[in-house]
Amino acid sequence: MTHDWNTRTALVHGGTARSQWGEVSEAIFLTQGFVYDTAEAAQARFIEAGPDEFIYARYGNPTVSMFEKRIALLEGAEDAFATASGMAAVSGALTSILKAGDHVVAARALFGSCLYVLSDILTRFGVTVTFVDGTDLDQWQEAIGPQTTAVFFETVANPTLEVVDIEAVAKLAHHHGALVVVDNVFATPVFSRAISQGADVVIYSATKHIDGQGRALGGVILGARDFIRGTVEPYMKHTGGSMSPFTAWIMLKGLETIDLRVRAQTATALAVTEALQGHPKVVRAIYPGHSSHPQYDLTMHQMTKGGTVVALDLGGQEEAFRFLNALKIVLISNNLGDTKSIVTHPATTTHQRLPADQRASLGITPGLVRLSLGIEDTDDLIADVMQALDAI
Ligand SMILES: *Cc1c(COP(=O)(O)O)cnc(C)c1O
Repeated sequence: MTHDWNTRTALVHGGTARSQWGEVSEAIFLTQGFVYDTAEAAQARFIEAGPDEFIYARYGNPTVSMFEKRIALLEGAEDAFATASGMAAVSGALTSILKAGDHVVAARALFGSCLYVLSDILTRFGVTVTFVDGTDLDQWQEAIGPQTTAVFFETVANPTLEVVDIEAVAKLAHHHGALVVVDNVFATPVFSRAISQGADVVIYSATKHIDGQGRALGGVILGARDFIRGTVEPYMKHTGGSMSPFTAWIMLKGLETIDLRVRAQTATALAVTEALQGHPKVVRAIYPGHSSHPQYDLTMHQMTKGGTVVALDLGGQEEAFRFLNALKIVLISNNLGDTKSIVTHPATTTHQRLPADQRASLGITPGLVRLSLGIEDTDDLIADVMQALDAI
């Protein structure tokens, strides 16, 4: 029924299941369990629950199910499993796939917790991991072999905004029968076409653009129905990383406006990048959606737009701190994709724990700041950034 809806319609109406009261806004089913009419009905549901039959909130819940259906429509995935956080999605997707003896190839430039899961946790259970430069296809080709079970990468890396070629890496991985698992946060579900480009599993931290208003942690794993229900669901429902119904309601309402928000934020990110071209205080403005980015063509092919985050190299930590402290509208924090513009200094916060040489090899220099553009007025934001640069 929903298949001929365009995206904006699906984001408002997709997945809606109304109760007998006919409520307009989706109901929050804050219930841990469900009542069965008879003992036989309980037995039958435990043997096999139908698509709209629920047992226990850790297994599924009507509000969570509405969110899963709506985000699956946006992503163009067959199915989705909602998780308690982005990291529950990353660790759940990888752990549900992998077993002792398996081999994973991953891009080196990763969110800190993703790096920890791969290098410190999975290796304890006998999984070997090879890290490569995600933008270097030769390194992927060399590392992926018949023993490789999965590849993992951020499609746009945090915070340096390097873009990994999904189609090319998927081709190499699929040649050896390896699954392609992508963390797609920076690409956003609005601009993602990752599944049609070869990703088997797409992961989001819903904390970022899906909520988009800084209220709740959440995550989601998307992929083929057999994979989600046969591999991910058993792992998640027995290990406990499921999304709460209240969070699912927040994320469901977030999806109604995500297309409008992310497109407005992306237009501002491009406008800020353009305003900064040639600015004497800016060593480098990095934005995948601007023609100055080394992977601009790949970005346009893969995502059609550059997303909501711009990275600036301001020279050194002193310059970066002066810039952060002078901003009046943009908040110093560490979320991204929020309606409120947020600035982060990765070297001293999100990537502080990395050894200095590793930070340097990832391009996280002392002068690098990450600027996540919100939905405030574009001219106000450009003026705020300009006056903060004057303070350097
Ligand atoms: C934030 C983030 C995560 C983790 O998500 P949480 O919701 O904070 O658990 C994973 N990957 C990327 C790229 C992120 O930005």
